[in-house]
Amino acid sequence: MWPRTSTRSPCWTGCCRCTRRSSPTCARPAPSGSQLDEPALVQDRTPAELDAAARAYRGLGTLTDRPKLLVASYFDRLGDALPVLAEAPVDGLALDFTEGAAANLDALATVGGLPGKRLVAGVVNGRNIWVNDLEKSLATLGTLLGLADRVDVSASCSLLHVPLDTAAERDIEPQILTWLAFAEQKTAEIVTLAEGLARGTGAIAAELAVNRATLASRADSPITHDPAVRSRTAAVTEADARRSQPYPERATAQRAHLGLPLLPTTTIGSFPQTTELRTARADLRAGRIDTVGYEERIKAEIGEVISFQEKTGIDVLVHGEPERNDMVQYFAEQLTGYLATQHGWVQSYGTRYVRPPILAGDISRPEPMSVRWTAYAQSLTDRPVKGMLTGPVTMLAWSFVRDDQPLGDTARQVALALRDEVNDLEASGTSVIQVDEPALRETLPLRAADRPAYLAWATEAFRLSTSGVRPDTQIHTHMCYAEFGDIVQAIDDLDADVISLEAARSHMQVARELAAHGYPREAGPGVYDIHSPRVPSTEEAAALLRTGLEAIPAERLWVNPDCGLKTRGWPETRASLESLVAAARTVREELSAS
Ligand code: GLN
Ligand code: ZN
Repeated sequence: MWPRTSTRSPCWTGCCRCTRRSSPTCARPAPSGSQLDEPALVQDRTPAELDAAARAYRGLGTLTDRPKLLVASYFDRLGDALPVLAEAPVDGLALDFTEGAAANLDALATVGGLPGKRLVAGVVNGRNIWVNDLEKSLATLGTLLGLADRVDVSASCSLLHVPLDTAAERDIEPQILTWLAFAEQKTAEIVTLAEGLARGTGAIAAELAVNRATLASRADSPITHDPAVRSRTAAVTEADARRSQPYPERATAQRAHLGLPLLPTTTIGSFPQTTELRTARADLRAGRIDTVGYEERIKAEIGEVISFQEKTGIDVLVHGEPERNDMVQYFAEQLTGYLATQHGWVQSYGTRYVRPPILAGDISRPEPMSVRWTAYAQSLTDRPVKGMLTGPVTMLAWSFVRDDQPLGDTARQVALALRDEVNDLEASGTSVIQVDEPALRETLPLRAADRPAYLAWATEAFRLSTSGVRPDTQIHTHMCYAEFGDIVQAIDDLDADVISLEAARSHMQVARELAAHGYPREAGPGVYDIHSPRVPSTEEAAALLRTGLEAIPAERLWVNPDCGLKTRGWPETRASLESLVAAARTVREELSAS
């Protein structure tokens, strides 16, 4: 890759033999190239925006005494922006040849290549963790050699999206470990490919042989091809992804079964993840307590969460999710075919790091994952306790996904595993089950043309996981991260009986959007902004509820916070939920008086 800096940089690896790389006395001139990242150009852009880009690059490119300019794109095809950049007087383009590879190749051929320019070919996936198919990459690179003055081998994007080194992983089965490439391994792949490109495949024969064997071991493995999972997914019918009765009948059955008041109150699932809970998990990992001791602590926490909710007067309770380290990893650890890493940290945003699990093989659920905690919570109260699961789309969105089958196929496998869990929750006496999909919108493809196909498999996967229950079992879902306007149809297509959404900061904007769409089912736009420690007053929450009632009729309006409470402390959680329940009571009285 080109250096990202333009002037007076320290000596870069390879630019000279200076052993003190940062020595200001290094004799060779500093490299004078500048990389301009333009991932916005892989999204749909209007003709006016493309014109503006053409003008901007013409302006930059025609400056005298300028550094060399490399314009980098990644995560998808460049589409209409490719001819614009191909014509621009810049020195090089970086293109993604992993995602959108075929389209980028075609488009490059259509514009007659990049004569006079350098092409940085992102053939090693910088966003996923699978070993590269070196022969396939060499073939792509070979094609590209005919299309640009010079071809550099590169990762498709910055390597900050992948963990550092597979060698740090001790718990992953050795065979599976060979299928993985983290940043260190990817760097080695880039070097190998560059060598193969420069000196011929003979120069990298040994690497190619190992690579071929690795890819074959992955393709032939019973881990990636479990016949039981394959035949089950193949047998899925359209009816499996449809509830047995339409919503109006279900609503009547659920009303009779649950007997909830008008404006029922509930929460999104998690209660504060206290230091004691995290310490208990650390103690368990370090062997300071055993499983029995750990589970006693979890049970004690559930007991407190239930009794607080009863005392506060919440209508649909939750167990509080104290046993979960993370809403995706917790389930990934219990599903066959899913791997958790020990050291696979990647930056999520700012200083927050996550360890995404890896969807490595065919997915199945050897045994129930959450049932006993929900059932335990239910044993402590007469009020309904809501079972809590993470939905198939979010499981995919916050994991490294398979690259050897369509995402929709992986989603369907995860959905079937979750369907078993949903059905087992129902069988254990759970009447309300929430399947969270906070990442549904986040995963929306970058280009509008790709969205219908994504939303089709995503909503089908959700319905597949939730459609195996009786009509009187109430299915909830939850989404956050604002701006739902453009996916209201998809929200409708989930066919969940109740949806809770983040809404407090936008003053119930989503309630108006749902109403404008004619959304026919129940909804709980949040009345408590959980992203701040601020405690809403009863009057503030009541005012939001009254605003919600302008869009959603009382029979279909729920009262809940914006999202889970795991990041909050107990004092503000207590006070805020008390306000929330008081607000629901106030508005109920107003309704019955009017
Ligand atoms: N049930 C999860 C929780 O309450 C939902 C979290 C989320 O939406 N991100 O924490
Ligand atoms: Zn949320």
